[in-house]
Amino acid sequence: MPFSAATLQSLQSIVGEKGFITDTKEIAPFLEESRGRFHGTCDVLIKPASTKEVSEVLALCNDEDIPVVPQGGNTGHCGGAVPKGGVLLNLSRLNRIRDIDPLNATITVDAGCILKDIQDTAKSADMLFPLSLASEGSCQIGGNLATNAGGIQVLRYGNMRDLTLGLEVVLPDGRIWKGLRGLRKDNTGYDLKHLFIGAEGTLGVITGAVLKLFPHPKETQTCLIGAADIYQLMDGYAQLRSVFGSDLSAFEIMPRFGVEIVAKHMEGLRDPFTRAYPWYAVVELSASRPDTNLRPALEETLHHLLEQGFFQNILMAETITQAENFWRLRESMSEAQKHEGASIKHDVSVPLSKIADFLTETGHMIQNILPDARLCTFGHAGDGNIHFNISQPVQMDKPEFLSHLPELNQIVHEMAERYHGSFSAEHGIGQIKMTEMEMFRGGSELEIMRSLKRTLDPNNIMNPGKVVPAP
Ligand SMILES: Cc1cc2nc3c(=O)[nH]c(=O)nc-3n(C[C@H](O)[C@H](O)[C@H](O)COP(=O)(O)OP(=O)(O)OC[C@H]3O[C@@H](n4cnc5c(N)ncnc54)[C@H](O)[C@@H]3O)c2cc1C
Repeated sequence: MPFSAATLQSLQSIVGEKGFITDTKEIAPFLEESRGRFHGTCDVLIKPASTKEVSEVLALCNDEDIPVVPQGGNTGHCGGAVPKGGVLLNLSRLNRIRDIDPLNATITVDAGCILKDIQDTAKSADMLFPLSLASEGSCQIGGNLATNAGGIQVLRYGNMRDLTLGLEVVLPDGRIWKGLRGLRKDNTGYDLKHLFIGAEGTLGVITGAVLKLFPHPKETQTCLIGAADIYQLMDGYAQLRSVFGSDLSAFEIMPRFGVEIVAKHMEGLRDPFTRAYPWYAVVELSASRPDTNLRPALEETLHHLLEQGFFQNILMAETITQAENFWRLRESMSEAQKHEGASIKHDVSVPLSKIADFLTETGHMIQNILPDARLCTFGHAGDGNIHFNISQPVQMDKPEFLSHLPELNQIVHEMAERYHGSFSAEHGIGQIKMTEMEMFRGGSELEIMRSLKRTLDPNNIMNPGKVVPAP
């Protein structure tokens, strides 16, 4: 339904000229999804500068049944922030660091703060905010919360659910829930913040958060491991974990194909080993105390694991540059895949004890259908999260390969489910995984979600058509 002039006028009077954009050229970049898969439309782009403005905008939209799509940095991979008409509510002007409390080890922020700015503010107080993603220079903490973002340090610090103590949320009818409590103990009924974390803007707009801070690590050690097979690699991981506990801050696995294509296509990167191995892992340990002798302890343990055959080869990073290059190997994997033609990608998780079986069995099933498909299965194995990516066979053209997409998606997602895993480990549902939501979360789970949605958003104005499929 097109907006009336009176509605537009009311919206403009709430947010002022700076926050009210109808110029189509100015709006255009906000309508594109980061990977170019979704193109949105909206009637107006609203950029509120305070929680009160968000509240007044939502109250008005609720009264007039106008859909509202919250948007952070628009870096999400599932089309969740892409509107289909109505109001696009971009939070970028709500970007104040409200408070930092080093003794309580918390920082209180507006939802539109860029993740990197929060990390930097924490660092300037000699503290660490550990969420770290490749999109950290542009994603916002509100988007990180709404997608329960994970990143590369989940193993030690957890994901956004674990990093959040309190929230401020504007409900669809404009009421403000002030839950900005920086408490580690608060047993006062239902823990409401978890309703909004991971809800992808379907239940309300997050406007502020109290986040946990940690001591800055005083020492970090990074190494690269070559392994003969995924079973030995994961068993080796368990050994490392039993020795180093929470000092083990990352364990990222990569297959031979992934390392090969990164070395082939990415400027300044090469295979650091002189021999090829079927599997690799980037391992990082960090300690909050400077005197833990982390390096000799790691070297001794790795030597032992090498002797026992868990690992085939090990390279310790001798310099910060070398450590960064090990990480770049891992982080360039998606980019390198673009040079190898089309890819079919999945973001799944399974229990750690099932990773090796899941990868082996699912890999066989894919190769039964496409014998020359090239598997680029890498990821945050320490948290059970695998990016199960498939690159097109060299001899096959792109349309033919992509015609297998539904079949391959089904295999990977069904196998994740069979292993009691998840078809969406860290990127969420958005509009891209609605079918899977129905398939794998149907029954009582989806019914509970639907009834929560109906209760909080009876007019279905918040990000309609995302996350929770209509019955
Ligand atoms: C290069 C790259 C690497 C990435 N790596 C990771 C990774 O390692 N781990 C990971 O988890 N993700 C990763 N992502 C995905 C993405 O960056 C995250 O999902 C991020 O948390 C999204 O933040 P955003 O501000 O861009 O949100 P947006 O994309 O703008 O929005 C995402 C969803 O959140 C909702 N939303 C946004 N702000 C609010 C708010 N204030 N209140 C309510 N709802 C809101 C939107 O409606 C939408 O549904 C990566 C993305 C890129 C481009």
